[in-house]
Amino acid sequence: MPLRTLDSLGDLAGRRVVVRCDLNVPLQDGRITDDGRVRASVPTLNRLLDAGAKVTVISHLGRPDGAPDPKYSLRPVAVRLGELLDREVAFVDERPASAAPGNADVTVLENLRFDPRETSKDEGERRAYAGELARFGDVMVSDGFGVVHRKQASVYELAEVLPSAAGLLIAAELDVLERLTARPEHPYTVVLGGSKVSDKLAVIDALLPRVDTLLIGGGMLFTFLAAQGSAVGKSLLEADRIPAVQEYLRRADELGVRLVVPTDVVVASRFAADAEHETVAADAIESSSFGADGIGLDIGPRTAETFAAAIAGSRTVFWNGPMGVFEFPAFATGTKRVAEALTEVDGLSVVGGGDSAAAVRALGFSDDRFGHISTGGGASLEFLEGKQLPGLTVLGREG
Ligand code: ADP
Ligand code: MG
Repeated sequence: MPLRTLDSLGDLAGRRVVVRCDLNVPLQDGRITDDGRVRASVPTLNRLLDAGAKVTVISHLGRPDGAPDPKYSLRPVAVRLGELLDREVAFVDERPASAAPGNADVTVLENLRFDPRETSKDEGERRAYAGELARFGDVMVSDGFGVVHRKQASVYELAEVLPSAAGLLIAAELDVLERLTARPEHPYTVVLGGSKVSDKLAVIDALLPRVDTLLIGGGMLFTFLAAQGSAVGKSLLEADRIPAVQEYLRRADELGVRLVVPTDVVVASRFAADAEHETVAADAIESSSFGADGIGLDIGPRTAETFAAAIAGSRTVFWNGPMGVFEFPAFATGTKRVAEALTEVDGLSVVGGGDSAAAVRALGFSDDRFGHISTGGGASLEFLEGKQLPGLTVLGREG
């Protein structure tokens, strides 16, 4: 059975629709630093409003501890949404479970994760919470692509409790991911970076038989260097993953996949925007001026050129995870070079991941220079791994 689309919900005039969006945007001092996910939620909301529905938007933001925390309030997001929709948006300050359904055309409820049941491992608790959220709608639209890999109350159980369908964002995201999995054009290059190797190992495993080139940057590159026998100073390292990484290096070789580990890196004296830094050979990190205290915060310029050439010469590219700590301008060079190369791809280029998407925008690239900027990092990766995503299965998708 294919994914249920908005049409399956029938005539929505005068009906109440609760929409699970992913409005989990990066905030700094209460200001949104990248509103990409808010903008991505607009087409579905406009479609529903144009159809005459009354809409209640629900989302999480960050990782509050299952209790209200002003730092993670969705209020600034509700304000931004109002600007983008060019409509009045009512914001409900209370916890979603205790709030009363109102009568506004657009309502945004407070952070779903102010209630521990949203992410509870106990199905009964999630179901109870979903029941309370269901008071806000006659039907439910699921459009938070960034969370479809999570079995959470508002993503999974709520879609069971109410008649539900996928919104336009989820449909568009799936379309692109299907192009990446069903007969992608070759050469096919995947670029992986970001902070945690453990998050990305499964996708390497799944992609090895399918891609031509795998480029490794970001914090995870140091576990690869360690797996090749290099000392990495104080750089990010997941030592327990070294055996798995060694196995991937061996398999890549066996399968004829070009798996490229950086040959040079930018090493800093400490983890700070204004830290002293030097470029060194990847196998000589501890011979920088900072010795064993050096921290690798970006790929080096030679590596960046190698990556750029491989990317620009590909017909299909998927990129997840910044190449370095791009939040510090001194360590954003590798990420910028990779982003630039993606804009030169003659074929399909996809950027996936909250931080990756924020990075390309922060570095000044407009969205239309890429084939697609996905709102979901983990969700895209799990899809590419061939996993069943609970948030899609519940909407009728098989496999
Ligand atoms: P995405 O959200 O795109 O999936 P991740 O969440 O996996 O990406 O990783 C993003 C984070 O990785 C960024 O905050 C960035 O600072 C960090 N990062 C990249 N390179 C390094 C590095 N060498 N050391 C520490 N952190 C890094
Ligand atoms: Mg991230």
